[in-house]
Amino acid sequence: MRGDREWLFDLDNTLYPPETGLFGAVDARINEFLARHLGLDARAADALRGRYHDEYGITLVGLMEEHGTEPHHYLDFVHAVPVGDFLRADAGLRALVAALPGRCSIFTNGSRRHALAVLAALGLDGLFSEIFDIVALGFRPKPEPATYRAVLERLGAAPACAVLLDDLERNLAPARDLGMRTVLVGARGPSPAADFAIGSLRELPAILPQLLA
Ligand SMILES: [Mg+2]
Repeated sequence: MRGDREWLFDLDNTLYPPETGLFGAVDARINEFLARHLGLDARAADALRGRYHDEYGITLVGLMEEHGTEPHHYLDFVHAVPVGDFLRADAGLRALVAALPGRCSIFTNGSRRHALAVLAALGLDGLFSEIFDIVALGFRPKPEPATYRAVLERLGAAPACAVLLDDLERNLAPARDLGMRTVLVGARGPSPAADFAIGSLRELPAILPQLLA
């Protein structure tokens, strides 16, 4: 019997592949922000981002904690990229997502505005009932375990009914610990960190029977 599921999709490098260059462009904007506001060169920026990543999960939270950065200023700056130049409407992806049994949401450490721009460019408008962005997450990004519990609570979903699809193993680990099903997207092979590993979302239908079992 197929039960409905809560499908939680990461956004960047999950709904579209890294080869599109979009996330690379956002990444470059983050370094530009650090150059402009903290006077860091590329090497110093990478070092700081590495430390923030380990200590705070994402660069933004590190900047908020250590420099009092205004989050919306940062989010507007780093996401000021022409999304439509990188992505195209993807009818196949739309059909695939639309056919999933249950409700789909976005679960991203980025901003809602960026998520809406990506969904519009990919032609996926209207398919996602909730967008959990970094603001909605209360600036407690993945992979903070409390954030996953909060999202499930907001959806009124049991972990066993929820599936998380993400391109980062470290974002899947807390979901798996909670009892959610996990799918690593953009994988080159099996992953010990995820229940399933697929090269792209195109392969999702192939693992659907197992995911729903
Ligand atoms: Mg991602």
